[in-house]
Amino acid sequence: TQIKANVPGLRLPPLPTPRDLLNLYRLQARKQLSQNFLLDSRITDKIAKAAGNIQGGDVCEVGPGPGSITRSILKRDPGRVLVIEKDHRFLPFLEILREATQERLHIILGDVLALEMSKMFREELRMQWEDRCPNIHLIGNLPFSVSTPLIIRWLKDISLKRNAWSYGRVRMTLTFQKEVAERLVADINTKQRNRLSVMCQNWCDAKHVSTIPGSAFVPPPDVDVGVVTLRPKIEPVIEEDFDLVDKVTRQMTIFRQKRCIRCAGTLFPAYQRDDLSNRLLHLAEVNPDTRPYQLTLDEFRRLVLAFKHLCQENPKLHKLVVHATNYLERIKLLACSV
Ligand code: SAM
Repeated sequence: TQIKANVPGLRLPPLPTPRDLLNLYRLQARKQLSQNFLLDSRITDKIAKAAGNIQGGDVCEVGPGPGSITRSILKRDPGRVLVIEKDHRFLPFLEILREATQERLHIILGDVLALEMSKMFREELRMQWEDRCPNIHLIGNLPFSVSTPLIIRWLKDISLKRNAWSYGRVRMTLTFQKEVAERLVADINTKQRNRLSVMCQNWCDAKHVSTIPGSAFVPPPDVDVGVVTLRPKIEPVIEEDFDLVDKVTRQMTIFRQKRCIRCAGTLFPAYQRDDLSNRLLHLAEVNPDTRPYQLTLDEFRRLVLAFKHLCQENPKLHKLVVHATNYLERIKLLACSV
């Protein structure tokens, strides 16, 4: 396979395809790492294209595996590509690409969940947060078990402008199980709207750009896959601490079909439940009959501010709800008196 550069300067020698290499190394997908490979370059080209113009920029690809998306990224002539892969068996696949790109590719063997990116990119690419997005991109087709906790972690990093986001509003192009992709972008009054929609849309502009059928993967998963692009917002709608927003959002969406006054009750200990949940909705000017999926981002903002106000009135309440991260622990604490 000849990879042609978009501009003169990057022309790779003929290389064996990822499929040839998988056969050559007799490498089987590992079930425990949920490995499903994309070996069709028309699909991987589309994923790389969805990231926009990456020419001359820095790209971090998470979970490159045998390197099909990596090749599609390289075709778009980025300045540097950093790949992070957990499975050491793919090292020879990636080494071939490193040599063929005159070391434009940098390989990191490790876990993306522990990856610290605050010093990983070139200094000259750094931008002010309010400025346009830097030419730094995160791209990845990760296992579903990793992509959902990862996006939550990265949304928190975005809220704190740390990790990759110390360089400015770094964009992401990531795959998710189709249903999760739909939740990330879901509007109010849709059946997919949930906690993830609110958290994601508070900090990012998210687009579900395409769907890849499960049958396009080797081996095929049981579900289809959505490609989502995410661009951090200059200002979130709810400019409050991530954990506080997460706690209120989580509780306010806990019962999908019930009135939101019922959900609000789960934020408070039993003996104060009625009083405080009524006060919360009154302060936030939210109709108690609203269903969680009908709540707008602005209503969530008012609920977070109202909850913060109630916590300031009663500091024990804040400690109880915000610092007890484990669900069972929280339920146990809520059952006790404040
Ligand atoms: N990008 C390749 C493709 O599209 O063909 C591989 C996709 S496969 C679904 C996910 C890849 O992510 C695998 O190579 C797997 O080893 C890697 N991976 C899984 N968990 C990871 C983690 N925590 N950190 C880095 N890589 C991980």
